[in-house]
Amino acid sequence: MALDLPGLIFDQAYIKDIEDRVYERGVALSASGGKIVGLYCAFTPKEVVAAAGGIPVSLCAGSEDPFPAAEEHLPANLCPLIKSSYGHAVGDTCPYFHMTDFLLADATCDGKKKMFELLTRIRPLHLLLLPQSAGAPENFRAWETEIRKAVDFLEKMTGNLITEEKLAGQIRIYNRLRRTVESIFGLNAGDLPLVYGSEITHITSMAGFECDLEIRMAEMESAREKILERAGDHAFTDQMKKRPRILLTGCPTTNKKVLFLIEEAGGCVVAMESCGGLKSVGRRVDETLPPLRALAEKYLNIACACMSPNTGRLDLIGELIRDYRADGVIDLTWNACHTYNVEAFSVREAVQDRFDTPYMQILTDYSENDMGQLETRIQAFLEMIA
Ligand code: SF4
Ligand code: SF4
Repeated sequence: MALDLPGLIFDQAYIKDIEDRVYERGVALSASGGKIVGLYCAFTPKEVVAAAGGIPVSLCAGSEDPFPAAEEHLPANLCPLIKSSYGHAVGDTCPYFHMTDFLLADATCDGKKKMFELLTRIRPLHLLLLPQSAGAPENFRAWETEIRKAVDFLEKMTGNLITEEKLAGQIRIYNRLRRTVESIFGLNAGDLPLVYGSEITHITSMAGFECDLEIRMAEMESAREKILERAGDHAFTDQMKKRPRILLTGCPTTNKKVLFLIEEAGGCVVAMESCGGLKSVGRRVDETLPPLRALAEKYLNIACACMSPNTGRLDLIGELIRDYRADGVIDLTWNACHTYNVEAFSVREAVQDRFDTPYMQILTDYSENDMGQLETRIQAFLEMIA
């Protein structure tokens, strides 16, 4: 879906150039012995992978093309994210999956856990047993133990020792990356948003293999400088003033159709709470704690709907509505995602009653069949809150 928004700079062509460069670099690193490590969830501490000299790559996919291959093994009425990710793996149609040496995964929702069992037939896979609640100290200890086991696995698979110094170094780099990503979102925290959510998703994308983070951060910084120039561009700011500010929450925006439809319909997605957005970057790893403990605390606090209770997500949504001055909240739920779908009840209640903000849930999949219907619903929501 090609976007046509006034003043749009950071589009598909922008990220394509970066992806090409990063891909070439990943291939070169792999050829010289670097291990490519496939990941599926925000819970996996990438710092550990990088400290082992591995190159992380996120494999959650957003296309419906691999569904037929996936549905040879998986039920058709499964979340599209799981079907897409698995279909690419089993059909060998994703160049990133193709390059992986092994996989690191977390026991999150039921569909993903069972999909990971099948993936073990294709690649070596280590599963971190994620506690399903962040509430109790014993869960943090259990999660730290799981991360320690992942360290052992990574050392064995890469042949590299993961020292405390290496971990501490990667924690500092990834914290800087989080700050950089957050500073891009921060461009929308003022009186007037300066950047479309569609652009944020491109600017902050890791563009494939997570190597050369310093270069990627410099690119984000330079994009930020360019966006700041928009503050003096009246044609741009005048049209931004008319756009209702939307907070997008819910399932990961692996497929961009809802994000793009909101902005095509006249809104501006000022912030994304999902796990590819502020849910993951908003909280840093504590650099003063022993590294494994600090990683356990940071990652177990990610407010994904697979955790119970998950009140941290409601608090985060409230903070983001306030900080980004959201006029409305749109809650994206992929079909058959039970965790986010059930949690939508509490999210609606909190957004409408506690935060006094209009709310709409969108339940959809990766297909384009319902685009017309979604467009009508989104337009009506934007008109209602304008
Ligand atoms: S929403 Fe939760 S389960 Fe889904 S990809 Fe993100 S962290 Fe993983
Ligand atoms: S979108 Fe929902 S069902 Fe799909 S992988 Fe994420 S948590 Fe699981």
